[in-house]
Amino acid sequence: MKPLLKNVLILILSLLVIGAVFSAASVNNKPAVETIGVTALVGKINQDQITRIEVKEDTLSAYTADNTEFIVKKETTESLSELLTNYGVPAEKILNLNVEVKEPSLGVTLARSFLPTLLFVVGLSIVLWLFIRQMQGASSRAMTFGQSNAREVNNKNNRITFVQVAGNPEAKEELSEIVEFLKTPKKFVDLGAKIPKGVLLMGPPGTGKTLIARAVAGEANVPFFHISGSEFVEMFVGVGASRVRDLFQKAKKTAPCIIFIDEIDAVGRQRGTGMGGGHDEREQTLNQILVEMDGFDPNLGVIVIAATNRPDVLDPALLRPGRFDRRVLLDLPDLKARQEILTTHTLNKPVAKDVDLRRIAERTVGLSGADLMNIVNEAAIFAARRDKKTIQQIDLLDAIEKVILGPERKSYVLSEDERVMTAYHEAGHAIVGHLLPHCDDIHKISIISRGRAAGYTMSIPGEDRKMHARQEFLDDMAMMLGGYVAEREIFGEITTGASNDLQKATAVARSLVTQYGMSDELGPRTYGQRDDMPFLGRNAHENRDYSEKIAEKIDSEIAKLLHDALETATAVIKSNRPKMDLVVTALLKNETIEKEEFTTLVGPAITSPKLTPKPASN
Ligand code: ADP
Ligand code: MG
Ligand code: ZN
Repeated sequence: MKPLLKNVLILILSLLVIGAVFSAASVNNKPAVETIGVTALVGKINQDQITRIEVKEDTLSAYTADNTEFIVKKETTESLSELLTNYGVPAEKILNLNVEVKEPSLGVTLARSFLPTLLFVVGLSIVLWLFIRQMQGASSRAMTFGQSNAREVNNKNNRITFVQVAGNPEAKEELSEIVEFLKTPKKFVDLGAKIPKGVLLMGPPGTGKTLIARAVAGEANVPFFHISGSEFVEMFVGVGASRVRDLFQKAKKTAPCIIFIDEIDAVGRQRGTGMGGGHDEREQTLNQILVEMDGFDPNLGVIVIAATNRPDVLDPALLRPGRFDRRVLLDLPDLKARQEILTTHTLNKPVAKDVDLRRIAERTVGLSGADLMNIVNEAAIFAARRDKKTIQQIDLLDAIEKVILGPERKSYVLSEDERVMTAYHEAGHAIVGHLLPHCDDIHKISIISRGRAAGYTMSIPGEDRKMHARQEFLDDMAMMLGGYVAEREIFGEITTGASNDLQKATAVARSLVTQYGMSDELGPRTYGQRDDMPFLGRNAHENRDYSEKIAEKIDSEIAKLLHDALETATAVIKSNRPKMDLVVTALLKNETIEKEEFTTLVGPAITSPKLTPKPASN
């Protein structure tokens, strides 16, 4: 709209200039001449003073014998002789006058008669033009609305390659095949190989699915159409399907290329489950995706990559051969991968010599790549706010806590009683965790409130583990109840501060009974259907596949497990009161205790015995 406004302004200005020129031209710049009325002129004629009259439209110039000029205005329509006759000038006097009629120049006449019309027409055209433009804008917006607004990304400076994706060697290997096809399709086609059309990236949020998809495009150096599943689903019915059609059309034109559908579960959920509204729209979109995927020639060079963290809810039709039949799993990074990710993200930042990324990686078990990136970023912010030139280890350590536990709330001041209570609560967790063989190492205890917790005890597993034994769960539950037990044993009172601990312990007990078959009473089976993917968010509806009688048994079994955990924790706390008092004193003084200080206070941790096979018995 800006250039348009400028044009209009220029137009108006030039019209003004033209007008000014015209009026300047019509101004008479001869020396001032006396203007007289018609009556005065008639008087002068009657007295024979006037010898010559020039008529120029409505202006009469009357000249005396000595060439003095008088100007007289008359109406244009009336001729001079008529005028004089009407004023009673005798006819012979009129004949005696030497009258010259000067016609105005053709240009001026034309301009005079047409200029108003012209201005009017021009003005009208401008208004019409503006109007039409606006209408076209609106209608073209209406037309594009079924078009996909997939963004095509392939700029040179922002190119992402596999180097930027740390860890995930298997995923990279699987995807380099795709890269190769995009680069040299002929090699595969000549051998009659059918190239996969669709690749499904699965993994918890923040594990680099979007990143690796872009890296594939970057490696192959082909265009990359990025669209998110939710963009297909809009307010208007039918938009999704037409966007899909448009997207594939664009892609086919630019082949070889990659279509990346992020968060495909937004449209690709199982059809007809009847939950939630807006089904038809999603189904149509999904159907259109399926139709398009079946429709194009596999050797065209269009590869559809989709990402989801809910593979379990996807419609089976999407996973059929010929569609998303390649599946690539991106898992949470292990120790080595975490260190690599941290290295990648600190490359372009000034890092102090004391930084030990391995130690940071050790402390971040269970965090995703996105979390790690966030930690490095928070550390840089800490360093800047502390007026440092480089990022130091302490900034990274503080950033971990901020990311895991939320920001410190220094303003959330506890009363003295609450501080003591919190100190015992946290010391309870720490002592139980420290002295039970299967719990994770205690890394830090604090009574500075963070997020919603009044204090916290940070325990971190020594290594990445894929499997967990029953005894570990039992010890963990005891540690979770350690705070509760400490409050109860030492103050004879329980506060609301323990409610989150109780929730967590109950959840562990429930999984033990219903998922892992770890309860003797209920045996080796699962209760209730849960999806087998460990990274599934919460399950909204448990599908009950057991009787009321079993439900009661489950409840009593959960209660029993929790009761046992309570006993274990109570025993530890009762027999270690002096150690707890030491920890509490230190906490009240310094607010936080690090791992080393804690070990000095309470002695070394008790570690779990290795599991060994039993000797054969007969
Ligand atoms: P997802 O799509 O799986 O939710 P993203 O690809 O959006 O995750 O990851 C978010 C950010 O986290 C990325 O931009 C990247 O900076 C960082 N990240 C995640 N995984 C990795 C990794 N393996 N290597 C390097 N950076 C990673
Ligand atoms: Mg993503
Ligand atoms: Zn607690």
